[in-house]
Order: sequence, then C-alpha cells, then structure tokens
Amino acid sequence: MTVTVAALGFPRIGPQRRLKTALETHWAGRLDAEGLRTEAAALRALAWRRQADLGVDHVPSNDFSLYDHVLDTAVMVGAIPETYGWTGGSVDLPLYFAMARGTQGRETCDHGCAHDVGTGLPALEMTKWFDTNYHYLAPELVPGQAFQLDASRPIDAFLEAKAQGIHTRPVILGPVTFLKLAKSKVKDFQPLSLLSALLPVYAQLLQRLAAAGADWVQIDEPCLALDLTDFERGEIRRAYGVLAHAAPRISILLASYFGTYGDNLATAANLPVEGLHLDLVRAPGDLDAVKALARDSLVLSLGVIDGRNVWRADLEAILDRVEPVVATRGPDRVILAPSCSLLHTPLDLAIETSLDPEVSQWLAFAVQKLEELSILAKALNHGRASVREQLAASSAAVAARRASPLIHDPAVQARTKALTPADAERATPFAERIALQQQRLALPPLPTTTIGSFPQTAAVRQARAAHAKGQLPDADYEAFLRAETARAVAWQQEIGLDVLVHGEFERNDMVQYFGERLTGFAFTRHAWVQSYGSRCVRPPILYGDVSRPAPMTVEWWAYAQSLTDKPMKGMLTGPVTILQWSFVRDDIPRSETCRQIALAVRDEVVDLEAAGAAIIQIDEAALREGLPLRRGDWDGYLAWAVEAFRIAASGVAPQTQVHTHMCYSEFNDIIAAIGAMDADVISIETARSKMELLDAFEAYAYPAQIGPGVYDIHAPRSPGAAEMLDLLERAGQRLSPSQLWVNPDCGLKTRRWEEVEPALANMVAAAKAARAAL
Ligand code: GLN
Ligand code: ZN
Repeated sequence: MTVTVAALGFPRIGPQRRLKTALETHWAGRLDAEGLRTEAAALRALAWRRQADLGVDHVPSNDFSLYDHVLDTAVMVGAIPETYGWTGGSVDLPLYFAMARGTQGRETCDHGCAHDVGTGLPALEMTKWFDTNYHYLAPELVPGQAFQLDASRPIDAFLEAKAQGIHTRPVILGPVTFLKLAKSKVKDFQPLSLLSALLPVYAQLLQRLAAAGADWVQIDEPCLALDLTDFERGEIRRAYGVLAHAAPRISILLASYFGTYGDNLATAANLPVEGLHLDLVRAPGDLDAVKALARDSLVLSLGVIDGRNVWRADLEAILDRVEPVVATRGPDRVILAPSCSLLHTPLDLAIETSLDPEVSQWLAFAVQKLEELSILAKALNHGRASVREQLAASSAAVAARRASPLIHDPAVQARTKALTPADAERATPFAERIALQQQRLALPPLPTTTIGSFPQTAAVRQARAAHAKGQLPDADYEAFLRAETARAVAWQQEIGLDVLVHGEFERNDMVQYFGERLTGFAFTRHAWVQSYGSRCVRPPILYGDVSRPAPMTVEWWAYAQSLTDKPMKGMLTGPVTILQWSFVRDDIPRSETCRQIALAVRDEVVDLEAAGAAIIQIDEAALREGLPLRRGDWDGYLAWAVEAFRIAASGVAPQTQVHTHMCYSEFNDIIAAIGAMDADVISIETARSKMELLDAFEAYAYPAQIGPGVYDIHAPRSPGAAEMLDLLERAGQRLSPSQLWVNPDCGLKTRRWEEVEPALANMVAAAKAARAAL
C-alpha cells in the first residue's frame, strides 16, 4: 500500500543524441538495419535501467520510437497508404523510413516544418504534436480503411524490458486521438468514422499484451485536452466501453495532458478504466474537479512535475496538495507522475557544465524530474522527515531563485508597468503612414525584396564553428562576415532588387542570435529535445527579466547600408517568436515575459531608425503556433501577442516602414489578429497554395501591404519568371496591385547560391513584366 511513481514517457534520443547519430549513419548507408536495431535496443535498455534506478515503479515501454510514435501506431494497426505499395506483412525499415521521410529527401525551415524536395515517394504529412515543438507524422486514412494488428513493437519492447528484469507499463496512443490526428485525401471524410473498424485491433492488442504479462497499460488520449463535440465524447465512451472488456486482466490508465480536461472531464472520469492521469501543472483545478466526479476506486495519476519545462519543482508545495488526496483515497490509489511524457524535456542536467551554477541549481531535466518524483513518493510513504534534506534543498533552490538578483531587474519591471496603450500604437494611421513612406522610399509599384537570410554556405558554417571553438580570431571572423555581406549586397544591387537585406550571415539562429544579446537568457550545450525523427533543438532557457544592454544588429545594418543607395532593411526577430522557441520562466505569466522582450526589440527598432533605417522587419514566424489548444483561450493569447508586436513596432516615426514576416499558410483563424498587428507590410508563404490563401486577406479587406511569396524556397528548384508572373497575376486578382510586394516565401538560408541566383533574377524580371502590364 504505497504511493507509486510513474513516467509517462522518457526522452528517446539518448545521451549525446545517440539515436540521431545512429539514424543518420543508417540513412547515409554506413550502418545496416541490424546495427541500427542494436543501437536502438541499447538505448531502450539504458532508458529503462535509468528510470528503474531512479525509483520509477511504472516504467514505460513502447514510448521509444525510431522516428515517431504516431507513425508507429499507424504501422501497428496496418494503416499504410496505398502509395507505398505495401502488400501486408511486417513493415521493414525502408518502408518505415519512406513514410517518415519520403524517398526524395526532406528539408526543414526555422519553425521546424518539413518540406519534401525532389521526386520520389512523398513522406506522410508532418504536423506539430498539440502545442509542443515535437512533430508527428499524420496517419493517412481512406473511407473503408482496413486495419490489422502488428503487435510486434509493443510486445517485443515489453519482453525486452522483462528480460532485463524490468516490468513495464506499455504506452499506447489511444484509438480516438489516433483517428483525430489522421488526415484523409478524400474531401469531407472524417477518419473518426473508422472507430468501429479500429476498436477490434486495439482489443486484440490488449489481449496480446495481457498474454505477454502486462498488468497495466497506459493509453494516451490527449485529444481530451481539446474542444470536443458531444459526438466525439460519445465515441470516447464507446471506445473505452469496448476496450475495458477486451482484456479483463489488464488495467487501463487513461492519460491526457497539455491542458485541462475541462468539459471532457465528466466523460473521462466516468470511463470504465482503472486509472486516470491529470496534468496538474497546466490544469491544477482538475484535481478538485475530478475528486467530485470520480468513483473512489479510480486510481489517480497526478502529473505534478512539469514535463514541458525545465524548472526544479517546489516539492513542499506539491506535498501540501497531494497529502490530502493520499489521506482520503489511500496510497495505492495515487500515482505520482510528470505532467506529460518527458519527451519534451532535455535528458540530464548533470552533464550540463557550461551553465552559470546559480541558474543551474534552479533547473531539472528528465532525470532530475524523476528524482523529484521519487523524493515526493518517499515523503508520502514514509513521512516528510524521511527526506528532510532533499525537501530542504528543494525549498532552498526555489527561494534562491525567487530572490535572485539575476532574475529581477527593477528597471525592466518598472518599464513594463509604465506601459500605456499609446506605447502599443503608432501615432499615425496606416493610410497616412504609407503615403509618407512612399514619399521617402520612392519605390516602383510591386517592389521587390527578400525575407532576410542568404545561403548559409559550408564556408559560413565552418567559419562560425571555427570562431566558436576559438580557432578563428574575432577580427578574422568579422572580416569574413563583412566580405560575405558585401558580396550579397553587391549582388542584390546588380540584379535590380528594390529593397535589400544584409543577408544574416552573422546569425546562427533567428532566436539564439538575439537571446545571446539580451539579458535573462541562458544557453546550454547538451540540452537537446527531439523535434522530429533525428532532428533535435536546444531551446534557450529564459530565466530572468529581459532587457537589451546594447544594440544587437545596428552595426551590421549600418555596414550593409553603407554599401548601397538602395534601402537596406533592418532585420529582427519578434517577441512572440523569441518566447515561443525558448523554455520560458514559470514565475511570471508568459504575457509579461513577452512584453519585456517586446520592449527590448523596440529599443533595437528605435536604434535602427536613429541609424537611418527606413524599413525594419520584425519576423513573427511562431505567432500562429502559439495559439492555445482550446478556442476559448485564443482571444486572450492573441490580444497579448498582438500587443507585444505593436509595442515592438510602435516606437518609430510614421515615415519608417515596419514589415513583418510569417512563414506559414493558414491565416483564416487569425486574420483579424494579423490586421490588428498594424504592420505596414507583411510577407507570407503563398507560392505552393497558388495564392489561394490570399482569399482570407481579401475577405478581411486587409488594408496594408502584402508580399505574397512567389518563390517556394523549400525546394531546390528555381522557378522561372513566367511561373512567378502567373502567381503575381493571381495575387492581383485578389488584392489591389498597389498593395503588393514581390518576394520569396521565406529566408534563403537553406538554399544554395546556384539555386537562389537564377530564382531571384527571374523574380525581378517577373516584377518588371507585371509592372509593365499595370
Ligand atoms: N529573416 C529570417 C530569414 O530570412 C526569417 C526566417 C523565418 O521567419 N523563418 O531567415
Ligand atoms: Zn519564414
């Protein structure tokens, strides 16, 4: 009769990103299938051993994946699209990776979305997993889809761990979430209508797991954190009515996470399952709500440790909340867990040696989070005195963080407090601004420009790496970057672009570059988190009040502008994007941190203007991905996100033109917010949609200027002038030509000069032809 500890999932990439290395050497043909399987098994064994040693009672299995657990689920139920020519039987690695990556290769842009390049079999579509930066492969289903079980992955994993002496709790993606995440090429077809066909496969799977010796299984249904219809809730009840009876010897723990159950709670709490997981970090109120609804025998898995962030927990405060639950429900009805899978946190803080030791003591990565859970369980099972020292250390760390001067900058706090609505407002309305800007800039109609970056060639990356390692002296690196910049500026001028950019050669990453120049950010060396497949990111850790001690981009801008008479754009990353791609502090609201960043960006905008910049672009690539999971929360988010952009943009005179850039193509939901940002010019990604997404701007009567991308930069192919002219004409049918700019879809950093040169020359030619036809 004890409180137990569970992990809902553990980082897969392993120490030193070993999975990435194994996958990439396999794809390069230097590691055979057997070698890859051996390394994968070693990584699983390591993870299980680690978790067991850390005191986890319910160690997960089947949470590992060679690429993605949603793809694994599709394979498990035999949902292989016809294109891949599957004829039944087990799916081999070439087929598996064809679905994951296509056979033509795939490229990634900043915000992590992947784009197919070249010809061959396409990959499944990749999308963000709820509101995380993890991407899954969307299953592709057809009406009448047949399913058949291949239970080998979950069964083999369970037996593998068992052979290692570890009795695991298999993790399975639930049938309703699986179908809700699926896509279909058949218009208006709802994959959820396949539930009846899918349930027997899941029932069989539970029977197989029971036969293999599993007593608990964790079924993830994170769709319960979304807005569901009554019909969908009914389908959940139907599904678990079937599954609960499928294998009487197996107990089901149903897990949702990333948000509140909200209006789905009554459904979830009354399912005939043995356990229910609650994300008490995102939804602390779910605890009281569930106590009122759940029968006494329901085991509650309390997600008390933040699986989405990197902060050490306040263990005493958690105990204060959990002790009464244990007292009333009994210890064997309480499991302690992270709020969600630890897939979303870095592996181990212990190997992170380069961090400021003061900041480091505030942090907990996956391993440390499991240590925290084990301390909590000891306190609940043997009294707080049994872990007195650990609890004291936790409280001391929390107190130290709260009081640290590293976090608190009174000047920053005073400044955000003093903000007034006028600070988020340009003094002059758009119609008047644009007239003044046109006078100042004297640009032709349909002006041409680019989004900012030019190819980050091997030479650029090598120079940066050598400089970082101390092998290339500052002065030499600087000279190298200047030469690259000068070459890019001269070339843009030569091909006749109207508004030039400096090329961003000095930037490693559009968030990191700024984070390194702002206060309040820490950077790690090893804190990798899987984004998808073999791709990992190392988000900065935003731990304190943000300010900008000195100009960040002005010198590069001024140098580039000194080389030309054409207008040179100042290039900045916006506050929402910086926030969205970092681990953010949890002691103040995200909106407050965002305002601080907004003021720092504003300082840079004002300095660029003072240095002479007539056009300043503030990229907000991540504005849309910040949308909350529930529609009811959208307005609140959009209000502060838009305000942050406006704070950043509103410190300049009406003659200074503010651009923004968003590289995605779904604007219907947020078009009013885009309008409210009040940018003078927005550039967006439209080449692949053949300008269809301009419909949203047309319907909204978007008043400002737009650069709809005419060059799909995600493929190596260089489009011809006729093709781009056609796109411009399509844009002109939807918006007034006087509103339009001509530019590529996004920055060109992933492209090669050989591709960029003809494409941009053609783009200029297309703009000239379109002007002639005006
Ligand atoms: N200015 C950035 C670039 O061109 C914008 C990138 C982005 O928004 N993803 O690379
Ligand atoms: Zn972009």
